[in-house]
Amino acid sequence: MISDPPPGATAISTAATIVIVGAGQAGGWAARTLRSEGFAGRLVLIGDEAHPPYERPPLSKAVLAGEAAPASTWLHKPEAFEALRMEWWVDTRVARIDRGAKCLEMSDGERLSYDKLILCTGGKARVLAVPGADTTPSHTLRTIGDALSLAPELQPGRSIVIVGGGWIGLEVAATARRKGADVTVVEAQSRLCERTVPPEISEHLLGLHGAHGTRVMLGARITGIAQGADGKSVVTLADGSTLACHAIVAGVGLVPNDALARDAGLACDGGVIVDRSCRTSDPDIFAAGDVAVAPNPWAGRRLRLESWQNAQDQGIAAARAALGLAVDYAPLPWFWSDQYGMNLQICGIPLPSHRVVARGTPCEDSFLLCYLDGDVVQAAIGANAARDLRFARRLIEQRRQVDPDRLADLGVPMAKQ
Ligand SMILES: Cc1cc2nc3c(=O)[nH]c(=O)nc-3n(C[C@H](O)[C@H](O)[C@H](O)COP(=O)(O)OP(=O)(O)OC[C@H]3O[C@@H](n4cnc5c(N)ncnc54)[C@H](O)[C@@H]3O)c2cc1C
Repeated sequence: MISDPPPGATAISTAATIVIVGAGQAGGWAARTLRSEGFAGRLVLIGDEAHPPYERPPLSKAVLAGEAAPASTWLHKPEAFEALRMEWWVDTRVARIDRGAKCLEMSDGERLSYDKLILCTGGKARVLAVPGADTTPSHTLRTIGDALSLAPELQPGRSIVIVGGGWIGLEVAATARRKGADVTVVEAQSRLCERTVPPEISEHLLGLHGAHGTRVMLGARITGIAQGADGKSVVTLADGSTLACHAIVAGVGLVPNDALARDAGLACDGGVIVDRSCRTSDPDIFAAGDVAVAPNPWAGRRLRLESWQNAQDQGIAAARAALGLAVDYAPLPWFWSDQYGMNLQICGIPLPSHRVVARGTPCEDSFLLCYLDGDVVQAAIGANAARDLRFARRLIEQRRQVDPDRLADLGVPMAKQ
């Protein structure tokens, strides 16, 4: 929640310079918010990609499938981007933060002073770290360029091995199957998306992918990759077996881009640590999006969220905080994934200790699972149940007691719980 400015909050001077590092979704929202909140000073957005701020979810879905143009992902229409009257330093990499001098140094040596700095540097796709990885071509999926380079592989007659059965791996698998490629997913854990969903959802995902002809290998660790004889690549597994394929995709997680912050001596722990006003351990530096690790009251600990919703909302919150407005950012985690026409949404943090109350069953096309602590809904997961999930979200936010029997009764609409 973002509250109104406290009485007497000092407005930031129009002579001030605010610099945003990272022209992704969080950075784009921070820029937009600074202007919409009335900041009239110098605003500089620095990004090391060749594109204006864009949203990444379509990269594993419509853009990867060739059904949407890369420019459709841009966060701002060109006129709206122009209207922000900011300097956009495109294809520019910030190499160092000199906190003493309140100055940034670019990789080409150029320097830029700031009064307030917002770090929205996101993360990079983790690459495979097995023998042969440095000599065998493989794909990751984080940028528009990554999606455009992988897309031609997704067609009948091509075989793809996806390493990692997490969200990116599974969405690539679904898109690849839809485009007619032969797909194998190799997952080291004993179930899919093990880090983020309970076993019943992993089972549902396994069934869904199996039903669409994706081969899923669980508990399978890769030990090496290599180039084969016939232009194919070869993936070797820990049990000695091998998989030949036309393309390897690594969907093995994200490494937060926090090196800039770490080198500048900011507190970091698997990302840049911020407080609930998005402020780092330096009062003039803020962070938002995939790179930020923030206290989360819903989790009772610090969390780094990798989600579209958080990139937007925390970007907005960090911009407001940089302007001196009162901010208390305490997001209820929310994430969605689209696979084979199934829209899965996860709200809150389901825990093994929760009691599961089901509306529908996970073997059906549409269901909602609510995760209760006592009689209070703490989390919900819905498949093709966006409307019900919105009501579940409200129950979670209101921490309202429910009657579990009524909750399970499909005859009682979620709106009446
Ligand atoms: C393929 C894919 C599919 C996704 N699907 C979903 C989904 O279905 N649902 C969902 O909720 N979320 C999804 N996400 C997650 C969501 O897109 C991210 O959480 C979001 O993009 C994070 O935004 P960000 O601005 O923090 O980081 P990013 O979008 O990564 O932006 C950071 C930018 O900073 C730049 N940068 C880094 N360091 C520097 C530097 N030193 N100098 C200059 N620039 C720098 C980077 O190059 C990058 O352009 C998906 C992500 C991907 C990759």
